[in-house]
Order: sequence, then C-alpha cells, then structure tokens
Amino acid sequence: MTESTVATLKAGLRGGLITPSDSGYDEARKVYNAMISRRPQLIARCADVADVIAAVNFARENKMLVSIRSGGHNAGGLGVCDDGLVIDLSPMRYVRVDPKKKTVIAGGGALWGDVDHATHPFGLAVPSGIISTTGVAGLTLGGGIGHLTRQCGLTIDNLLGVEMVLANGKFVTATAKENSDLYWAVRGGGGNFGVVTSFLFKAHDIHTNYAGPMLWHIEESVDVLKWYRSFITKAPRDLNGFFAFLVVPPGPPFPEHLHNKKMCGVVWCYTGPLKKAEKVFKPIRGFRKPALDMVGPIPHPMLQSMFDALYVPGLQWYWKADFVHELSDEAITQHVVHGSRLPTMFSTMHLYPIDGAASRVKANATPWAYRDAKWSEVIVGVDPDPSNKEKITNWAKEYWNALHPYSAPGAYVNFMMDTEGEDRVKASYGKNFARLQKIKKKFDPTNLFRVNQNIKPSK
Ligand SMILES: Cc1cc2nc3c(=O)[nH]c(=O)nc-3n(C[C@H](O)[C@H](O)[C@H](O)COP(=O)(O)OP(=O)(O)OC[C@H]3O[C@@H](n4cnc5c(N)ncnc54)[C@H](O)[C@@H]3O)c2cc1C
Repeated sequence: MTESTVATLKAGLRGGLITPSDSGYDEARKVYNAMISRRPQLIARCADVADVIAAVNFARENKMLVSIRSGGHNAGGLGVCDDGLVIDLSPMRYVRVDPKKKTVIAGGGALWGDVDHATHPFGLAVPSGIISTTGVAGLTLGGGIGHLTRQCGLTIDNLLGVEMVLANGKFVTATAKENSDLYWAVRGGGGNFGVVTSFLFKAHDIHTNYAGPMLWHIEESVDVLKWYRSFITKAPRDLNGFFAFLVVPPGPPFPEHLHNKKMCGVVWCYTGPLKKAEKVFKPIRGFRKPALDMVGPIPHPMLQSMFDALYVPGLQWYWKADFVHELSDEAITQHVVHGSRLPTMFSTMHLYPIDGAASRVKANATPWAYRDAKWSEVIVGVDPDPSNKEKITNWAKEYWNALHPYSAPGAYVNFMMDTEGEDRVKASYGKNFARLQKIKKKFDPTNLFRVNQNIKPSK
C-alpha cells in the first residue's frame, strides 16, 4: 500500500478518511466499551454505498485486515481492529418510515434511537434492544433481543431484507426472494457476509406501553426468581419482563432510602390495551409488594432510552453470557450467591425471555438456533474506573463459571467478548453452523470479514 493508493481512496470518499496523524483519530477509534483500545491504520467514514464499495475494494486489493463499525457497541469492540481498515458506517444514520406499508428502512449506521424517533409519530415500533444508543446493524445481524421479544419476536424475525456490499465489491439485495441464502445468513450470522448498507424492517402498532422497573429487596431474590420463572413463561405474549440483579443508582428518580442498595427486579413491558394493564399487573403486584414500583404508561421511545443516562459511552465492560433452557432451584441458588455480590454500582445480570413469538420460529429458519431456550442470560461487570477492570472481570467470570453447568453450550453472539473462541461460536449456532460456513464460502471465500464472531468458510 503506497501513499498514493491511500490518497486515491481519500479523494474518493464522501465521508472522509482518518489516519493516525489526523486530530480526530483518537475520537474516531473509540468504541463504547472503554476496555477496548485498538489502533487501526485507516478509518473510512462512509457517507453512502459508493464509499462502502470503495472501502471494501481497497481492503481486499491491499490485503488489509478489515472491521465493520456501526453503533460501536459491540462487547468485544469488534467494530475496530489493530493495524487494519475500519469501515465506519456511522454517517449513514437515515431512517425512512412507510406508514401505509408499516415498514422502515434504516441506514447501515443508524442507532435504535434514530429508528424510535422516526417511527413513534406514526404509532409504530421495530423490535430492538433496551438501550437507544446501540447500533441497528450489529444488534440486528446478531439477532436482537429486547422489550418486544415475546410479542413480536427477535429483531431478525422482523427483518424483511438488506442491501449490502459483498467481499468482491458487488452491491446486492437479500430478501426471501432474492439471494435467499444470504438473507437467511444475515438474520443472526453477524457481520460475516458483507457490509450491510441498509435494513428493511416490518414495524408494529406500538405507541405507549405500560412498562418500567419493579424492584424487590435482594433478600427476597430466591422467592422472586422462583415466582418469575413460572410466571413469565406462562404470561401472555404482550407482556415481556426481564429479570435483573442491580444496584439502585444514587439519584433521582430513585427514593433516597434505596440509593446504592443491591436489589433484584423485573423490567416489564406490556404492549396490550392500556385499559387492561392494571388487571394484567394485579397478579404481579399481588405476588409480593415491591419495594419500588415504577411501572406505568410510558411512550415507547422513553422506555427504549430509559437506561441511556446510566450506561453512557466510555465505561469499562466485561461480558459473559449463555442461553438457558430451565431455571432450576440449583441455578437460582448460584444466581443469588453471585447476584448478591455485584462488584460495582453499574454491574448487573439480566435474564431476557426469548420465548413467546421468538420461540414460534423454527430453529433452522434463521441461523439463531436456540429457539427452544427460555432465556438469554448476560452477566456484565461494568465500571467507569479502569483500575476496577480486574474486579469486574473476575466477578463476571466467577458468576458465569458457577452458572454455566446449568446453561446451554452456546450463547447469544452479541453478548460475548471477542475471546470465546471458535468452538463457542460453533456451539452458539448449533446445527445451523455448517450451513453458515457454506454460505460464507460462497460470499466471502477468503474470510475478508473476520473481525467478528467468526464463521470460517467451509473447506
Ligand atoms: C449498553 C448495551 C446494551 C445492549 N443491549 C442489547 C439488547 O438489549 N439487546 C441486544 O440484542 N443486544 C444488546 N446489546 C448488544 C449489541 O447487540 C451488540 O453489542 C451489537 O454488536 C452492537 O451493534 P453496533 O452496531 O452498535 O456495534 P459495532 O461495534 O459497531 O458492530 C458490531 C459488529 O457488528 C458487525 N457490523 C456492524 N455494522 C455492520 C454492518 N453495517 N454490516 C455488517 N456487519 C456489521 C460487525 O461484525 C461488527 O464488528 C447491547 C450492547 C450494549 C453495549
């Protein structure tokens, strides 16, 4: 790679090229997880499809390591790479809603907050995650679990098609009718198959939910977990609720007597008719009076961004995850031991329900193999202070080690760091792995796109 080839790339990019000598370099290479610090050679800011094609061709022709970055939220920082080229889609944040067809087109660099902002005035919503600053691309390509999973399925279950740039620089559309193998693969197979420049989603009639957190004292967590495991799996589809161990933040809107207390809770989201909500919540409130009940009517975008102010970019994060079929009494005992030892105010453990609509999709209909699991568990050690890195990492590892014997062999790929290894990726895709490898061989035979939870091309 010569200076003149770099200059040619730079001249052709509408979004701009950032190199280590540029003043914006350190800002541009930052990702959400401050535990990650990688130094790419080049960052191609892509403003449009033409920029993406130029960047992909440049990486291939110059045999550069390449990573794809959208929202920058990936746990293991897989949007950036050392010494390679970052294809950064963050300028492509457009969203277009078709209220008649109830569909949404989102640019490859859009954040979920952009989608919620655009869809809400039409009384529509696309199922996504629980933090609005997460990228549409990374979350969708890995699966997408959130407040609407039980009602509407995973994000990929609402993905109608994508436009993308392949490793050979070709621009293609993938839908159920066109490039259907690629369409199958991108619904869970991550960034392995090319750079997605736009997503087409089905949207749902969702405007105002009856939702929010409900907390109980940590001493009650055995009872809460035992009640929760049977309640949520029998609950109607329009009621979602993820379980959490957490520390109450020391500030409003939380009452002072609960500040800094370790607690357990469920973050509910009911999308049914508001007039029925009190009735739906009667058995929940009747199970045991919560120490804090913040559940009530809330516009969907407010729920989606409820935790944004707590989890700002730049914290240290260490992630461990698993799929869970059953929450046995033994598993609950271990959860309570480790959940009661949250090492910092930001650290948490979530159990996201993935039954309901998500479980009605066949295990081979998309790469997401664990359609029979009931929960996606994630343990995250989080803190602003880099000197607590070991403390949060050790806690997450110990917690996971204690729970893994009660969990499935695989995990949701979007809840994993970059260090889990090939066997774990294989376990996470289960019986779908071989098909993914074949499709990888067809569309990316040289594994150009390998900075991800990598699926190597079949031999
Ligand atoms: C605070 C926080 C909350 C989260 N909450 C949820 C949640 O509720 N539900 C959930 O399901 N997940 C959640 N996640 C996990 C999230 O889904 C992953 O971190 C995901 O990778 C983030 O996508 P991104 O675009 O922001 O990340 P990036 O780091 O930009 O990208 C991640 C990876 O995705 C691929 N990729 C990104 N853009 C493209 C593209 N345009 N084309 C092809 N490949 C691409 C690449 O392989 C890249 O390495 C959360 C993460 C964080 C940090």
